[in-house]
Amino acid sequence: MNILLIEDEPGVAGFLKKGLEEQQFEVSVAYDGHLGMEMALGGQWDVIILDVLLPKINGWDLCRKLRREHGLATPVLILSALGETSHVIKGLNEGADDYLAKPFKLDELIARLMALHRRSNGILAERNRLSYESLEIDLDSLEAFRDGEKIKLTVREFRLLEYFMRNPGRVLSRMKIMQAVWEVDFDLGTNVVDVYINYLRKKIDRNYNPKLLHTVIGMGYVLKKDDAEE
Ligand code: CA
Repeated sequence: MNILLIEDEPGVAGFLKKGLEEQQFEVSVAYDGHLGMEMALGGQWDVIILDVLLPKINGWDLCRKLRREHGLATPVLILSALGETSHVIKGLNEGADDYLAKPFKLDELIARLMALHRRSNGILAERNRLSYESLEIDLDSLEAFRDGEKIKLTVREFRLLEYFMRNPGRVLSRMKIMQAVWEVDFDLGTNVVDVYINYLRKKIDRNYNPKLLHTVIGMGYVLKKDDAEE
């Protein structure tokens, strides 16, 4: 885990760097708010540990700027001698994810860092990707994969596949598909859904096994692993 420590007191910074490095963390230290800002934006950090009473820019302002002006999503743990409830609330309101008051126990700090790291990884994984069997889609890059191979889809095909992947095992009627993917709530009177299902099937199923996208006669379609072929 790669940690940025923004802390002006050399004693605290030295103790933390040594303690965390013994636990196999990588630690870089910024000794004032201005340098902390530059390093926070310039590097790839798993967690930022932020002191509040800092020269040049204080921790509150630094945290707020990172979040609101720069959109930084890296987890921030504030570590401060200011331990009143009102300080904790202010820290969380400025965009910090956690708050630990000094004096603190190193074990507790480490446990909190690990929890923050787990949480942010989980959220990223959840937000960006959906998978079903050997199908996977990336909701940010709009890429689709089957058995790890990249499949080229049009935006409409992607949205269609995404809808199925959000509803695995559920039979979806043409009307529901129309509403979700074409955003119209009336029957266009065409077989546009069937046409697109066929496009999609050729790309995600034709060259792979098992087949995943099935017709349910008289009902619609379902994304499912082990149904009988139509
Ligand atoms: Ca300080």
